[in-house]
Amino acid sequence: MTGINHMVTGAVIAGAVQQPVLVLPLAFASHFMLDSMPHFGFKNWDKARRKQKRLINGVITIDVALIVLMLILFVSQGAPTLFYVAGFVAFSPDLAWVYQFIVNRQLELSEDKPHSRFNEFHERIQSRERPSGIYIEAVYLILVGIVLIKLWP
Ligand SMILES: [Zn+2]
Repeated sequence: MTGINHMVTGAVIAGAVQQPVLVLPLAFASHFMLDSMPHFGFKNWDKARRKQKRLINGVITIDVALIVLMLILFVSQGAPTLFYVAGFVAFSPDLAWVYQFIVNRQLELSEDKPHSRFNEFHERIQSRERPSGIYIEAVYLILVGIVLIKLWP
């Protein structure tokens, strides 16, 4: 799932639960719950990376822009620190992809290198990825955004 959806979900958990000892594990668990829902992606990422580069780059650009917008809103609206931390924790399993993306770009490594067991699990639960999942993600973002506004302290 897109980073913005993971982060806003983390902030919603922070707003709803408020206890850091519960918020942080729930935020982390939410990542895998969201990843197992239908969402944007491809059955064959290696092929998509070659054939649909513009679509992928477009979604990444919008995702990053929305995350920046979210952070601006958080700062200007005085979000509690726990919102930032929970948002980051909810996103954190995807740091593995960010890292891979950067390493791949710089070193041009082959794409069939061995994956860690964690990455294999993380990849396997995302079997419901499809390009049209972007619509589900957009609707989800609107809903979770409304919930976050309602929970705003
Ligand atoms: Zn993920």
